[in-house]
Amino acid sequence: MLAIDDHRRLGRELDLFHLQEDAPGSVFWHPRGLVVLRALEEHVRRAVAADGYEEVRSPQVLARSVWEKSGHWEKFSAGMMRLDGDAALKPVSCPGHIALARRRSREALPLRLCEMGVVHRNERRSQLAGLFRLRQFMQDDGHVFCEEDQIDAEVARFWARARALYQGAGFDVIEASLSLRPEVRAGDDALWDRAELLLARALDAAGIAFDRVPGGGAFYGPKLELMLRDQGGRSWQCGTLQVDLVLPRRFGIRPPVILHRAMLGSFERFIALLLERHAGKLPPFLAPEAVRVLPVAPEQSAYAAEVAALLERGGARVRVDLRDHDLSRRVSDAHRAKVPIVVVVGPRDVASRRVSVREGRELRELDLAAAVDAIAARCRPALS
Ligand SMILES: [Zn+2]
Repeated sequence: MLAIDDHRRLGRELDLFHLQEDAPGSVFWHPRGLVVLRALEEHVRRAVAADGYEEVRSPQVLARSVWEKSGHWEKFSAGMMRLDGDAALKPVSCPGHIALARRRSREALPLRLCEMGVVHRNERRSQLAGLFRLRQFMQDDGHVFCEEDQIDAEVARFWARARALYQGAGFDVIEASLSLRPEVRAGDDALWDRAELLLARALDAAGIAFDRVPGGGAFYGPKLELMLRDQGGRSWQCGTLQVDLVLPRRFGIRPPVILHRAMLGSFERFIALLLERHAGKLPPFLAPEAVRVLPVAPEQSAYAAEVAALLERGGARVRVDLRDHDLSRRVSDAHRAKVPIVVVVGPRDVASRRVSVREGRELRELDLAAAVDAIAARCRPALS
């Protein structure tokens, strides 16, 4: 029996997604769930664009020779999904981005690339956990190619954006840790000493309070991990930033440093955390249905449709409930469907061109233009 705020249960009740036995660790997104995934993708896309990243897309399958060069074939072998012995589905987008960066080697640094890419990891079946841990998921995988003296500024930029993104999605508690060199790694100790020093210094400069975790780093560099908690109190890594002095040397590219970074890590994991955090009632900018407009009586139907059209033009996902049920029944249906904003229009509202807007416990009566502006802002929040 799943807890009432378990994301698997909410996903089923809200018709967002399902998992099934013949595709372990991969999600079947339903239309309403895909709307959430796309809305989150768009939100992250705006955020990374504001931070100077260029969006790219790199191949799903790369030859074994590439993975041997990066070290994944040897040091990440358990996590790789290999194909016919000579290629693998990508578990990360680094080699693709390195190939893209190589073609732009004369440009000024930093060069920032980001990909909303699907990746595959061969997780053990016993480790799979709903959307929290999957074999196929989408990642906001980005790489900053830079000089050593640009690391501090890039870490500060990353932290500010990631924190704003988490807080804007309702997460106030963010745990940070610095994971140090693992046993299985590439690069000599001098390089690791340097990379750990550079990352720790950048975290201090950015004012990030962190714990040190011996042994948890990536095989090519130390790793900042940003963790959020689910409703059961379990921590999940979402954001990460890794200082890598190894792969630039292995691939022979000009920039001496690669920062591997992701804010969400896995879109699916972040959606699971969001669903649990909000008990299914997602913030308006992510909800599959952000607003439901309810005319008190059929006489207000035309006005309700006009209100809905204006809201839609403002970027909101809207439905009008014209069913022949009394208002309280339709309000409670909207509540049960976890629609975050309910707009009610009654007989007096038509003449005065006003509406009642209910979000959470707050009920406001606004004139129509002000309501449209306020709701549009909730559906497309400004980036801080
Ligand atoms: Zn990477």
